[in-house]
Amino acid sequence: MATREILVIPDKRLRVVSGPVKKIDKDIRALVEDMFETMYAAPGIGLAAIQIGVPQRVVTMDLAKKDDPKEPQVFINPEIVSRSAEASAYEEGCLSIPEYYEEVARPSAVKVRYLDLDGKQREVEATGLLATCLQHEIDHLNGVLFIDHISRLKRDMVMKKFKKAAKRTDGDKPLARDDEPSHHIG
Ligand SMILES: [Zn+2]
Repeated sequence: MATREILVIPDKRLRVVSGPVKKIDKDIRALVEDMFETMYAAPGIGLAAIQIGVPQRVVTMDLAKKDDPKEPQVFINPEIVSRSAEASAYEEGCLSIPEYYEEVARPSAVKVRYLDLDGKQREVEATGLLATCLQHEIDHLNGVLFIDHISRLKRDMVMKKFKKAAKRTDGDKPLARDDEPSHHIG
């Protein structure tokens, strides 16, 4: 098991549409283990494989409260088969958009079909936090982020902030390199 780096916007890989898992083999099991370790370390309650750069339709989740026993759940090739007409709003955050939270309205109930780690097809009628989290993670598999569901003005603001931060990180590198050669001149 290993903790993997979580991609942060504006990383373009977060916009990739992930492909379906064809076979649940030892590579997928290893991926799932890494995803849980990464998710628990973050800490987060849900993670899509693309958030660690793997474009496969795999989601891990644990909605247990902090001091309760762990409840790890795996959803492979999850698919929303029905949505309620009624919507509800939750304040969402995302490990790929650190420290930004905004209210998002989504269908309050969804029925999701998926495979478990043994390749068995299952269905869950999700409400509340599970419904929100499943829709958020399935969005990731389609290259969609929760900021796509908020106003354009707010989205532009948050994208600008993260683009600036990414540029700053890149900008620091040449400076550090410029400083070094001075020791070697002559
Ligand atoms: Zn997310």
